[in-house]
Amino acid sequence: MFDKILIANRGEIALRVLRACQELGIPSVAVHSTADADAMHVRLADESVCIGPPPARDSYLNIPALLAACEITGADAVHPGYGFLSENARFAEILAEHGIHFIGPKAEHIRLMGDKIEAKRTAKRLGIPVVPGSDGGVTTDSDALAIARDIGFPVLVKAAAGGGGRGMKVAHHEDELAMALATARAEAKAAFGDDAVYLEKYLQRPRHIEIQVFGDGRGGAIHLGERDCSLQRRHQKVLEESPSPALNTAARDVIGETVAKAMRELQYVGAGTVEFLFEDGRFYFIEMNTRIQVEHPVTEMITGIDLVLEQIRVAAGGNLPAAQSEVEFRGHAIECRINAENPRTFLPSPGRIASYHPPGGLGVRVDSAVYQGYAIPPFYDSLVGKLIVHGKTRTECLMRLKRALDEFVVDGIETTLPLFQRLVRTQDIIDGNYHIHWLERFLAEGGMDR
Ligand code: ADP
Repeated sequence: MFDKILIANRGEIALRVLRACQELGIPSVAVHSTADADAMHVRLADESVCIGPPPARDSYLNIPALLAACEITGADAVHPGYGFLSENARFAEILAEHGIHFIGPKAEHIRLMGDKIEAKRTAKRLGIPVVPGSDGGVTTDSDALAIARDIGFPVLVKAAAGGGGRGMKVAHHEDELAMALATARAEAKAAFGDDAVYLEKYLQRPRHIEIQVFGDGRGGAIHLGERDCSLQRRHQKVLEESPSPALNTAARDVIGETVAKAMRELQYVGAGTVEFLFEDGRFYFIEMNTRIQVEHPVTEMITGIDLVLEQIRVAAGGNLPAAQSEVEFRGHAIECRINAENPRTFLPSPGRIASYHPPGGLGVRVDSAVYQGYAIPPFYDSLVGKLIVHGKTRTECLMRLKRALDEFVVDGIETTLPLFQRLVRTQDIIDGNYHIHWLERFLAEGGMDR
């Protein structure tokens, strides 16, 4: 096992990793920017190192500073959390060159899945169904038009290096294609320094259903069921649940086994998520994330498996957390991502939290790094915390979620709590009857004010 783990992240995920370290009895090192000197992850870690000024590129993305922090503290492993350097293959390689373990997949798999064109090719080769689209990147507008006509409009232009919903543009008709290509390329160039794009059929009413996988890097891999992340705004997840209201046990077993088999073939190590769109009973691969995800707690709640702790164990050469036949899915879990934003305009609302009272009780979990008197800095994401609720059935889970949301107090800043309070009282959500475009339509039609 590792002697000391450095957590190359901040906020709730840094705290999440720290908790796993503590339960494994491994000393932890927090890193922080000058803006995060008072952050909870810094307070709770065994040691902390300041790695730079507020902008992430100078601190949380600063590889030399992180290496120096490992050296100063004697950390022999790094957990990257999500975001920041979690999907940076070069970072994993540099750590290895310095004899430090990267708690995550092999660099080659991070690189492979980081290029969404290559990822799709690999998925196809491994027998995973993909969204119809261009076979590889598109370079000229005329090539793109020919392909788009072939797959049929509407089409989606997507960035090969994409992430966080950036570099994605829909073309509903032929005359919109040139503009969609130009905009997606420009956005991708600005965000990722790479303007390679590809085309996909734009699906009209799919759900986003993703499969959690876990590999041992030696040809063993299991799946831990699905998460339904169809409730989205601007291609970003807002609420996630497991199991999906749209799947039954047989469908879950088939897609789960398809994905687990692919991971065995890849000799994938650690936690990963294979994301699909699901429409008319069929799955279409869109991408794979080679890291722990924001929404991982819903899987933990229904399987009882601590994914972050298992990431650490398997990175140290341990075995899989369970055999596939030992994995049991119990009850239902829902996660709400509560952001420091106006619940109608979604404008960020950073600032000081005047009073804070998280909900509690059976089946209620709050993953958050905020506290009363804490000021949310304007430099990073606007997540206040994640409320995760578990119940024996979906109905029980929704009732529990409703009361937990009503108990939750965050004063002094605006949050998206009122959005969730509205959603849990909306029939389509109660019925589990929603797809990836549902929330934007609901908001556009004034759903918050009805
Ligand atoms: P990113 O890496 O930027 O998150 P993804 O490929 O994971 O991009 O897609 C993010 C979201 O965008 C999906 O969950 C879905 O809502 C939407 N999306 C992606 N591909 C398609 C498609 N072919 N048709 C319709 N919506 C799509």
